[in-house]
Parts: sequence; structure tokens; C-alpha cells
Amino acid sequence: MFENLSSRLSGVVKNLRGQSRLTEANIQDAMREVRMALLEADVALPVVKQFINDVKVRAQGHEVIGSLTPGQAVIGVVHEELTKLMGAQNDALNLAAVPPAVILMAGLQGAGKTTTSGKLAKLLKETQKKKILLVSTDVYRPAAIEQLKMLAGQLEVEWFPSDVGQKPVEIALAAHDYAKKHFHDVLIVDTAGRLAIDEALMAEIKALHGAVNPVETLFVVDAMQGQDAVNTAKAFNEALPLTGVILTKMDGDSRGGAALSVRHITGRPIKFLGTGEKLTGLEPFHPDRMAGRILG
Ligand code: GDP
Repeated sequence: MFENLSSRLSGVVKNLRGQSRLTEANIQDAMREVRMALLEADVALPVVKQFINDVKVRAQGHEVIGSLTPGQAVIGVVHEELTKLMGAQNDALNLAAVPPAVILMAGLQGAGKTTTSGKLAKLLKETQKKKILLVSTDVYRPAAIEQLKMLAGQLEVEWFPSDVGQKPVEIALAAHDYAKKHFHDVLIVDTAGRLAIDEALMAEIKALHGAVNPVETLFVVDAMQGQDAVNTAKAFNEALPLTGVILTKMDGDSRGGAALSVRHITGRPIKFLGTGEKLTGLEPFHPDRMAGRILG
């Protein structure tokens, strides 16, 4: 589908044999190709521009002696910088809090918050033997509350009832109280999304954050959103002290440029990737693998 960056670069920097360093002209040509590759992977334009500037500086002093091909040398630098930008290693969930450790799920409608709440519950139950409580504060969509209840049933995890007549903050506080009394280790609070950013949504999620003091505030974003992910990430990052990002729908044909954009905009680590509709479709994020996917 996409032309591989290696083959593109081998074309533009093939005349380097005998030189010990990349030249200004070689780098210009190579960076044009890298820029195209990043834009095709749906990385946001301002992010691409800054990235190219940073890489150019590094590539200028880069030795090519001993490289298999100069193109590979450039790719090496680009890959390393991409990996560094996305956080050199995988960041795990932080559950170090007086129980219950609260995880607040934030994001637009359809991003995958409810599904991911279920996936996290499964992961924490199975790998860390945590006692989990799930609650939905989406009082606008009864179907969303039902969806979480159904997931909880499948997972045999406890679900705290909520209803359309209630206020989100009251639900969250009641669930928190219940979790404390019944010795749950983790409370996962699923929240209402909207189709687009609006002030009421932001005010509501801020109030929820203030009420339950989460140890993890996770921004859930659809990788297929590409360039649009930037605006959403900006709005949520301004409204909330995010602690991490979950990029969903990575099983689709997205090249994953949203990972780079969202990391750049929020400065927060991407903690997991959603890789399917099933509850098993959650993987820890590995920056080096994502760099490879973005470069194609
Ligand atoms: P919410 O509105 O943010 O709670 O989003 P949902 O959890 O209801 O998810 C919206 C749709 O995306 C549903 O059809 C999910 O099955 C689907 N979905 C969520 N995560 C993933 C994923 O990682 N991959 C795929 N292919 N679909 C997903």
C-alpha cells in the first residue's frame, strides 16, 4: 500500500559511497522522503515539521562509514529519534494509591473507552489478581451503561449500577465509597463522550476528576482519527492532568501516526494499544515497534 521508506531513501542517497558523512544536499533529499512517509502515516503537519528539523541537526554530524548503505544510516537516525520522541520504553500503569486506585477514562464518543475499560479490567484481574469495580457515568446513553454491565458480566468483575436519572459526579462518588467499603483494589470510571469537543463535556469530566482523584487519567483515542486526534488530544490535555494515552483500533489499517502526534501534543506516555474489538485486544505500547510501523 505504501512505498517502503528504505526503498525511497536508497534512491535519493545512493551516491554517498566514499563519503564519510552525510552532506547537506543528501540530507535535504532524504528529509523530503521522510517527511512524505510521516505525512502518509497521518502524523500531524506541525509535528512533522519539528521532527524533521530535529533529525536534520542530528543527521548532519552522522557518520556513514561502516553503514550498509547511507539510506540505512538515515533510517537509523530517524527510527531512533521517533522512538525517543514516543518515550524510549514502555510505561506501565501506575496503581500506587490508597485503594481503590481510580482509573478515569476520557475521550470522545466512539473512541473505545467502554471497550478499553473492560480490557483493562481483564488485564488487571488476570495478571495482577486485582479486585476491580467498574462504573459508567454516561447518563446520556443508557446503551453505554448496559454495554459496560455486559462486559463486567463476561469478565466476572463487579459492576456498580448507574442510571440515566443520576448525576455523573454522584455516581462516581457512590462507586468510590462502595469500592472503599468492599476492599476493591481498582475502580475504573468510564465516562460519557461526545461526538466532538464541547464545553459541557469538559466541565463534566473535570468535575469527575476533582471528585474521585484518579491515579491514572487515561485519554482514549482512535488511531484512525489521524490528524484530528491532535485537536482532541489538545482539548483533553488542557482540561485534565492526563497520565497516559491509549491508542485504539490499531488493528485497522492506520499506520499509527496519531501516536507520534498525540505524544507530541500531550507529552504523556502512550501506555497501551487497542488491537481489536475483543477483550483480549490490548497490548502494551512499544515505541520502537511503533516507529517501525510509522516508517513503513
Ligand atoms: P466509547 O464510546 O468511547 O465508549 O467507545 P466503545 O468502547 O463503545 O467503542 C466504539 C466501537 O469501537 C465499538 O464498536 C468497539 O467494538 C470498537 N472498538 C473499540 N476498541 C477497538 C479496537 O481496539 N479495535 C477495533 N477494531 N475496534 C474497537
